[in-house]
Amino acid sequence: MTPPNQPARVRFAPSPTGFLHLGGARTALYDYLLAKQTGGEFILRIEDTDQKRYVPEAEENFKKALHWLGLDPDEGPDSGGPHAPYRQSKRKDIYREHAEQLIEKGGAYYCFCSPEELEKTRQEQQANNETPHYVGGCYNLDPAESAQRAANGEEHVIRFKIPSEGTTTAHDLLRGDITVENETLDDIILIKSNGLAVYHLAAMVDDHLMGITHVIRGSEWLPTFPVHKRIYDAFGWEEPVWVHPSLFLKPDGKGKLSKRDMEQAREKGYPIFVEDMIEMGFLPEAVNNWIALIGWSYDDKTEFFTMEDLIEKFSLEKLNPSPAAINFSKLDHFNGLHIRNLDVEDFAERIRPFFEKAGYTVDEAILPKVAAAIQTRTKRLTDVVDMAGFFFQEEVELVPERIVSKKMSAEQAAEAARRLIQLFGAVPEINQANCEQPLRDLAKDMGLKAGHIFRLLREALTGQKVSPPLFDIMDILGKEKTIARLEKVVEVMGE
Ligand code: GLU
Repeated sequence: MTPPNQPARVRFAPSPTGFLHLGGARTALYDYLLAKQTGGEFILRIEDTDQKRYVPEAEENFKKALHWLGLDPDEGPDSGGPHAPYRQSKRKDIYREHAEQLIEKGGAYYCFCSPEELEKTRQEQQANNETPHYVGGCYNLDPAESAQRAANGEEHVIRFKIPSEGTTTAHDLLRGDITVENETLDDIILIKSNGLAVYHLAAMVDDHLMGITHVIRGSEWLPTFPVHKRIYDAFGWEEPVWVHPSLFLKPDGKGKLSKRDMEQAREKGYPIFVEDMIEMGFLPEAVNNWIALIGWSYDDKTEFFTMEDLIEKFSLEKLNPSPAAINFSKLDHFNGLHIRNLDVEDFAERIRPFFEKAGYTVDEAILPKVAAAIQTRTKRLTDVVDMAGFFFQEEVELVPERIVSKKMSAEQAAEAARRLIQLFGAVPEINQANCEQPLRDLAKDMGLKAGHIFRLLREALTGQKVSPPLFDIMDILGKEKTIARLEKVVEVMGE
């Protein structure tokens, strides 16, 4: 085991079978934090040995998502590194050589059972309520003869040999010793008949060769964990520290979060994939903060963490292996905290793409002021479009019924707009100090309430029922645009 504070070498090893979701992102984050905290390396390894489930866009999606989260790898398929290649499909020969080494050591064997025979046994075992397991007995074949048959090109797989007696104990940092009866472990396949290694072999070999000190991975690997420990032993290698963080539970805490639950949650508008989080206007800072705390805590009170805080304060020992329910409203909460924590210039840069995506041409001259006016009210970056898109419109869409309050006529509305134009034209600058009292006087003079005038003004300038404070808006729009928008009201109301 690596002594504390020795540089850790950790890897995130996704299979490109889908896009990066919050579970994967959490693993990657913990890997990254441990690497940075100890001055070690964070490695990205693509585990693409399962050709059937291969999704071509997945790898790009992982890289983009990791980059957005700020978790760029030190070594990986793009950055390279001393243990390249970092894509398992390019390491086929390495796995084959290692499987053969194991055969020589007596820890693995060639198996020539046909898929039909295996399927038949599997069905019989299921009918007897047994967990399917290999009973074919190829282990008892003469090794030299088996090697010859394999060399002659006879179709085969390579299996890992597990004794039927005794127990195996594997040690997880969070969960302690996990002991199982060997008879419950199967002689799993290491190399398939197509010559490709499976996870159980490929990942162990790579973790060893790549000098991985800590394996942090999903708890779905707990059932095969004892087999993995046996594979290390069979090679005579020193084990890494094994860490299986908490399982995710459904938002209501009732049961494990399944792939299907994730799909359903997504349909309901919850962000499951990192890509969703980007599109829905979450900040990477908020996402990291949120996922870090699903299964880890620093103390029982601190909840706001920047990446620097996390690097400093994270510790594997404080991971909690108990299953944790996903609380999506917490993500909104963290998003608010991190939005308010940004410098306004930074916030302006974050919201720019959302305006652009909605089709607005951002006016650079006013963007910083717009950002300042809406920063504290923004919950998700997507909010800014409805809240402030009107700033970047040539003209706003007026809704006459809303401009005219009850007990007010269209003529009065047009008249009010005309008088506002006069008022604003006459002041050096439209601001609260210059204009608030005159606005109230105007209302009184026309027999209206101040609220009527403010409402008319808001509708005229924004086309919306709710908006940032009116004087902020007029300050940002400037005199000319403010007056132009009021002229439109005169025109529409006059009709
Ligand atoms: N490729 C495995 C997966 O995506 C990685 C498991 C591990 O981190 O060892 O589930």
